[in-house]
Amino acid sequence: MTKGNINVSVENIFPLIKKFLYSDHEIFLRELISNATDATSKLKHLSNIGEANTEIGSIDIEVKIDKEGKKLHIIDQGVGMTSEEVEKYINQVAFSGAEEFLDKYKDSAKDSGIIGHFGLGFYSAFMVASEVEILTKSFKDDSTAVRWVCDGSPEFTLEDYPEKTTRGTEIVLHIAEDSLEFLEESKIRELLTKYNKFMPVPIKFGTKTE
Ligand code: ADP
Ligand code: MG
Repeated sequence: MTKGNINVSVENIFPLIKKFLYSDHEIFLRELISNATDATSKLKHLSNIGEANTEIGSIDIEVKIDKEGKKLHIIDQGVGMTSEEVEKYINQVAFSGAEEFLDKYKDSAKDSGIIGHFGLGFYSAFMVASEVEILTKSFKDDSTAVRWVCDGSPEFTLEDYPEKTTRGTEIVLHIAEDSLEFLEESKIRELLTKYNKFMPVPIKFGTKTE
């Protein structure tokens, strides 16, 4: 039998992540684009094997800067997530993954190539964002869209979000005051070129398709 308090030690995880990986904080974009790409590939695969009962339609990934609102949007048209999937893949796996990561790699965190292996991928968004929203609608029939919001503390909110009627996931990063460079078009373009040259899904940015 096991007893204990769940997740007490995550209280300070985001400041730690930020500190350990500070020199590489730009990798958040690679992580989020790779999640968008995975979600898109999953949908294509499910459709190919007849498990996605859906007209696939347009399937690109879009990155949008909202300079005035200080927001960066990463939008895909992939499998999306149900409310249960957000609970499972975002709220649970990632926190435990983050703990495992910090335990194991405290001393070598500079090697950010390993970050994606511990479910820390998505949470790298908090290196540049003071608040992160996930707006997502699963490809599954009759699924309601949901909105998840977290400011980097272990507390999150999750609610139905019927305003989103299209399949897929939109990540909204409220860019932190110390990371405003990521609202510059030239900076984002540089990163997209660096990380995503060989990605299988086209990425729209501004008016150009990368
Ligand atoms: P990993 O990609 O290594 O599994 P992440 O922290 O990057 O870890 O993401 C955790 C999980 O959240 C993913 O495995 C996936 O199930 C879900 N997820 C994240 N982003 C998306 C997205 N854009 N669309 C659908 N599911 C997503
Ligand atoms: Mg990932």
